[in-house]
Amino acid sequence: MPRTNFKRVDLDRVYLPFVAVALEVVARCEARGVRYVATYGFRTFDEQAELRRLYLAGKGGKASAAGLSAHNYGLAFDFVCDGDERPGVQPDWRLPAYRVLGEETTKAGLVWGGRFGDAPHVQWPGYVSALQLTPLRTLAERSSVAAVWKQLENERGSSAWRAANPPLAAELARLGF
Ligand SMILES: [Zn+2]
Repeated sequence: MPRTNFKRVDLDRVYLPFVAVALEVVARCEARGVRYVATYGFRTFDEQAELRRLYLAGKGGKASAAGLSAHNYGLAFDFVCDGDERPGVQPDWRLPAYRVLGEETTKAGLVWGGRFGDAPHVQWPGYVSALQLTPLRTLAERSSVAAVWKQLENERGSSAWRAANPPLAAELARLGF
């Protein structure tokens, strides 16, 4: 069941409409015989800064600066492909293992990180680049992540957003958002 694929992350800190569509995506991947387990969801600015520090020191994978990752607003998940049937997660980090995730993510109107060299990453559209994320950082610093979600709710309710995101708008409508 898709929810068990998310038990390692705190779903309360992830934007609910994104959670709902991500659950659908993972269920569809599973129906195609590929199991993905979420390893990261929300990340605080401090956690992000630490990942950035490790990356700059050559000790960790590529990481954006604090406030410049969709994870900092609960708008992204990282997944690992569970490679086989044995109990527990047998990670498969080979690139082709994320092809189905990319296909189902894109079909649902979310953004797949494979577009920019980050195949395990799935996120909400419109907030990918530093330029796009900077206004969210400003808002979160002045107010809170809750204020960011409120802004996303307003945005999502606009006809311009629906026109720009037809597959995602259709998924959300079907899911009752
Ligand atoms: Zn990520």
